[in-house]
Parts: sequence; C-alpha cells; structure tokens
Amino acid sequence: MSMKMPMINQCGMMECAYNSEKNCHALAITVGGSNPFCDTYMDEAQKGGDIESIGGVGACKVMNCIHNSSLECIADNIQVGSHAGKAECNTFQERM
Ligand code: SF4
Ligand code: SF4
Repeated sequence: MSMKMPMINQCGMMECAYNSEKNCHALAITVGGSNPFCDTYMDEAQKGGDIESIGGVGACKVMNCIHNSSLECIADNIQVGSHAGKAECNTFQERM
C-alpha cells in the first residue's frame, strides 16, 4: 500500500529559510532523531524552497511517536512550532 505524504499545516519558525508567512516551502522535510525536531530547518536570511507549494514530511526518525510507522509519518498533517529556539513537531505524541 502506498503512503500519502503528510502536509505541514503551519510552521512557526519564521526565521527558517523555507518559511514564508508561517508556511513551509521545502518539498519534503526530515524530522527526527531522539527529539521531534525538524532537521531541515535552516537559519538563513535568503529564502529557499518552492514558494508555489506547501511542504510535506518526507521522513521521520522519531520512532516513539504514535504517528510513526516504519520511519515514516502517517499523520494526516503536522504542525511545527518554535520551542526554545528549536523547530519542533507539535503533532508528536509519545507512544506509551
Ligand atoms: S517545517 Fe522545518 S523546514 Fe519547514 S519552515 Fe519549518 S523549520 Fe523550516
Ligand atoms: S507527528 Fe510524529 S511521526 Fe509525524 S513528523 Fe511529527 S514526530 Fe514524526
């Protein structure tokens, strides 16, 4: 069964090169590691990405999230926020 890429509904990391008006314009981000942080975040004044499209989650390495299946995100969509200067996936929910 093929997977659908979850869209990034909103991102609060305005200083990220891929962010424009709280939208992510990277084609596909990577989330992850031991914390649910956006690995694609780039603190850069010059803007990048494709302004015509809204970014999605290409891969997620956060295995202890209930939305993670086989190292992919299976949420319908996610939101990213700024937490202590880090771009964190707000949709993360710890698997108990
Ligand atoms: S989701 Fe990640 S790459 Fe996209 S704008 Fe936010 S911090 Fe940047
Ligand atoms: S919701 Fe969970 S699986 Fe999806 S990107 Fe966020 S941390 Fe990864």
